[in-house]
Amino acid sequence: MAIIKVQKGTKDILPAEMPVWHFMEDKAREIFTQYGAREIRTPIFEATELFARGVGDTTDIVNKEMYTFEKSERSLTLRPENTAGVVRSFIENGMHRLSAPVKLWYKGPMFRYERPQAGRQRQFHQVGVEVFGIKQPTADAEVILMAVNYLKALGLNDLSVELNSLGCPECREEFKAKLKSVIKPYLSELCPDCQSRFEKNPLRLLDCKVEECKEIYAKPEIQAVIQSDFICEDCANHFNELKSYLDALKINYSINKLLVRGLDYYNRTVFEIKSNNLGSQNAVCGGGRYDSLVRNLGGEDTPAVGFAMGMERLASLIGNKEVEKTKAFVVSNNILEAVKLTEELRSSGITCEFDLTNKKFVKQLEKASKVAKFALILGEDEIKANQVTVKNLDTSEQKTVSREDVKSLIV
Ligand code: ATP
Ligand code: MG
Repeated sequence: MAIIKVQKGTKDILPAEMPVWHFMEDKAREIFTQYGAREIRTPIFEATELFARGVGDTTDIVNKEMYTFEKSERSLTLRPENTAGVVRSFIENGMHRLSAPVKLWYKGPMFRYERPQAGRQRQFHQVGVEVFGIKQPTADAEVILMAVNYLKALGLNDLSVELNSLGCPECREEFKAKLKSVIKPYLSELCPDCQSRFEKNPLRLLDCKVEECKEIYAKPEIQAVIQSDFICEDCANHFNELKSYLDALKINYSINKLLVRGLDYYNRTVFEIKSNNLGSQNAVCGGGRYDSLVRNLGGEDTPAVGFAMGMERLASLIGNKEVEKTKAFVVSNNILEAVKLTEELRSSGITCEFDLTNKKFVKQLEKASKVAKFALILGEDEIKANQVTVKNLDTSEQKTVSREDVKSLIV
């Protein structure tokens, strides 16, 4: 019979890889908790409209990448990202009534119909943070710090933080108009995506990965507009304050005026963290401020800022971690005594196994030395004397002790 295989762009995360995933998850909980953030878990599917409104219907995510299906005449979508879901939950659960800032973090699978390649899957995982209720740039700095310190805690150092300010909807209008006027003469030479972005979302032109388009945007008259300081005084002050916090905290960053981010909802601060050790899919973290999203999704006016990181990309930077061996393996031909001792140790928190098939003593010992650190030998003599022989399988040292003393020898 034909074997059913894992779907293209999806992967099993196998037991051998699990130590790295546990490490990423444990560190997320540890670091984000230090900043006062609480974990939130929202559903994996939501109303399609949430993403159309929350991510933006001019984005690649909504236009091309969503897994959408109908059920009972409802259009549902597997979440392509989690900010929209967290915002929906924030509104629905009246979290604006909590004292600000409300700091939330999450982790879990996301789904995007993209061309699979190294660092790009159709089901992948993100860990992210959202901070609600603070318009001052202290929140932007706090969020960037959370990202940087999390990455540090994972032992990742060769990273660079890129920063930009997209201004507010008002100052951005003027910039968009200028950008369009200098790009217009080249419109017919742009890729089809850029041709449609030109009217719908001109900022996104700068995000295009197509070489021909990039060459056009590198032309001096277009660069002059891109590199100009277009943001209004308030936005400039906000950005300058953020930079001074980061300077004071010795967070290295560079300004990248091409950084616009794929999503529609960002205003003012946007940032990305890139690895110098990944290939072309080198962005490990993307984030920014989204002051109008809560209102756009029907909530009270609430400023917010957050980020999301791709966990598969983090995992490939962390590399392998050894799978821990079982602590103890009971070796005995008396299966009832074996299971009793095994359970005794398990109930005091020690990982312990015994041979479920009751093989010959020597075979059991062989098995123990493969999977465990200690063999707990229960022969006829030991059982009679209520003792256990504890054998350290690394050093081959062994000692016969009373049952009560077994635990203290297993370290
Ligand atoms: P990219 O430019 O790489 O497509 P993006 O702007 O679409 O990234 P975001 O929506 O900001 O990405 O998601 C945040 C992070 O999630 C990215 O920096 C990346 O690490 C990870 N990520 C996004 N899409 C994928 C994917 N298809 N497979 C694996 N990781 C992904
Ligand atoms: Mg993308």
